[in-house]
Amino acid sequence: MPIKSLIRTIPHYPHKGIMFRDITTLLKDPIGLRTTIQEITKRYQTYSIDKVVGIESRGFIIGAPVAYQLETGFVPIRKPNKLPAQTIGRDYQLEYGNDRIEIHADAVQPGDRVLLVDDLIATGGTAEAAVRLIREMGGEVVECCFVIDLPDVGGRTRLEKMNCKVFSLCKFE
Ligand code: IMP
Repeated sequence: MPIKSLIRTIPHYPHKGIMFRDITTLLKDPIGLRTTIQEITKRYQTYSIDKVVGIESRGFIIGAPVAYQLETGFVPIRKPNKLPAQTIGRDYQLEYGNDRIEIHADAVQPGDRVLLVDDLIATGGTAEAAVRLIREMGGEVVECCFVIDLPDVGGRTRLEKMNCKVFSLCKFE
């Protein structure tokens, strides 16, 4: 099943010059959605994952059903001031400006084997901040899993330099 062929590209969104990779067309396709979740689940079946951590917001859509299939817990990483209990957070740089992500301070236990999930890795800034948060809590990031990798932007290399393994279902060069 060609997952890549179900992903739509929107030129000049959200800014001029950006090719936005839109997974809503993959998600609305029943076979596309099922194949996406099955492919990821199949890979991690034997990894003894304790928790799937998903990054807001498309990381929730992929991460929660993967956690369900792997019979693990699911933990959200969210934009600032969205989580109700005590959080730890991390600021990171975007191409223009800064952003921040937060996680509940009690969401990951020391020694937890964590699978980090998001829809797409570009610069890797978001995923790097997420990995640092999980490690700060004593979690072990077993692998970072994305539907889409944009290898030319360098995120995979950035994560690998932090001793983080990276997997993606498809690439857009
Ligand atoms: P990075 O931090 O530069 O790796 O950007 C990755 C984050 O931005 C992820 O949370 C993605 O959901 C989002 N993102 C960046 N570019 C795209 C895109 O083309 N399509 C969908 N999401 C994107």
